[in-house]
Amino acid sequence: MQKNTWLLASGNAHKLEEFRRLFGPAGIEIQGPADVGGLAEVEETGATFLANATLKATSAARATGRLALADDSGLCVDALDGAPGVRSARFAGEGASDGENRGRLLEQMVGVPQGRRSAHFTCALVLVAPDGRVVAEVEGRTHGQILGEERGEGGFGYDPVFLFDEPGDPARGRSFAELTPAEKDRVSHRGRALGELLERLPQLDLGAQT
Ligand code: IMP
Repeated sequence: MQKNTWLLASGNAHKLEEFRRLFGPAGIEIQGPADVGGLAEVEETGATFLANATLKATSAARATGRLALADDSGLCVDALDGAPGVRSARFAGEGASDGENRGRLLEQMVGVPQGRRSAHFTCALVLVAPDGRVVAEVEGRTHGQILGEERGEGGFGYDPVFLFDEPGDPARGRSFAELTPAEKDRVSHRGRALGELLERLPQLDLGAQT
């Protein structure tokens, strides 16, 4: 086991693929839970994205004796005091579909005027050494507005109700579901967090090879 093989503590095939695409060129091989015979489910009881990513990465690192990376992400809406936040995946209830979660959000935003519909996506990424030491933690954010109705066919989760709205960017004014995957990678919270981790890679103390 080399220190340039990292375990991603996520069973999500899309994420695994995305992380492999981005870390591959940096010489890092990303393995998933299936490559280590599975990982125990970790309850996301943290109050922040960073706390939840740390819980997942620490549990995976300790259980397998490997460098483990975990992410946690979601949507924070200012008019709703930061909700859905860490409850993004289960906003409409345990096991809710993406469509049900979006429906609940649109419902709660009825009557909120333009100018008070600001929101951001956040992605926290945490890399943990086999002994439980946190090697790196980064956060990426993307700013926008919550639309009054869904727009666009691409993406997943809250993408169709999130209008990308960062001044000066050519993608401004389109929903996340209207961006191409490459455009979304460039401006998304996850793309930014991954980019920052890659930038910091040369300075990271990954410890002895395990
Ligand atoms: P997790 O990071 O897999 O726990 O994602 C939490 C939830 O946040 C997902 O189920 C989505 O509802 C939402 N979410 C996270 N990232 C995105 C995104 O890029 N687009 C849309 N929804 C997202």
